[in-house]
Amino acid sequence: GSTNADLLARVSGNGRDSGKDALRAPTLLVALTQTAGRGRAGRAWLTAPAAALTFSLAWPFASPLQALVGLPLAVGVTIAETLADFGVEVQLKWPNDVLQGGRKLAGILIETATAPDQQLWAVIGIGINLSIPEKLQEQIGRRTANLPAAAAQDRDLLLGSLLSGLAQNMWQFESEGLSAFVERWNRLHAFAGQQVAILDQGKTLHEGKALGIDQIGRLLLQTDGGSNPIAIMAGDISLRPK
Ligand code: ATP
Repeated sequence: GSTNADLLARVSGNGRDSGKDALRAPTLLVALTQTAGRGRAGRAWLTAPAAALTFSLAWPFASPLQALVGLPLAVGVTIAETLADFGVEVQLKWPNDVLQGGRKLAGILIETATAPDQQLWAVIGIGINLSIPEKLQEQIGRRTANLPAAAAQDRDLLLGSLLSGLAQNMWQFESEGLSAFVERWNRLHAFAGQQVAILDQGKTLHEGKALGIDQIGRLLLQTDGGSNPIAIMAGDISLRPK
């Protein structure tokens, strides 16, 4: 099904996997494929056997829940910086996507749960496309990218590098918060200085020039006709280039 759903069940003690021992340490669950992969707000993340690298990492945090709002941005930076070590340049789309040449290469879904012992956990789900079949691409209904073959060749090596990057950056996020990632994110921003629309369930809320993220991960947008930029919270809204 979904690696996020399975790890969340392990954390919270609900569902199919709840009979297993509670998690005590960061835990990785890797899937060769997922039949119920998910995105934000109940949207589907589609994949096929061997078509993507999909995994979730459950990570315990001492920070309060509200400190985790910027976590998807720090995870995006981690994916981009790790892929750069493999010779793959990607860009970040606020708040949670990894693009290559304007197409979606990878998605991030972070869900949180509190364990019965009150420990807060984040389940960090990542899907990176390796070779999405054309039929599936049609089903997805928007342009996707695949990791170049050379980088996709050694999936285990890539997974190992992503994990060590994530471990290092989750420690840094816990101790320094998002501020350690703001400049790094803004350097990777796919739409820096570009005209974009902010949508809420398909309806345009704002239009303007995307400037970058602020210290708490909000997108700064210079609206058409406005004097100062406005700051947009993630919530369930979407960004589209104009
Ligand atoms: P938006 O782009 O509207 O902000 P999102 O990026 O937040 O949405 P998510 O909810 O994170 O989207 O991911 C689900 C969406 O990703 C789906 O609605 C679909 O458009 C797209 N999608 C699903 N599977 C894949 C895939 N394998 N590769 C790329 N995109 C996919």
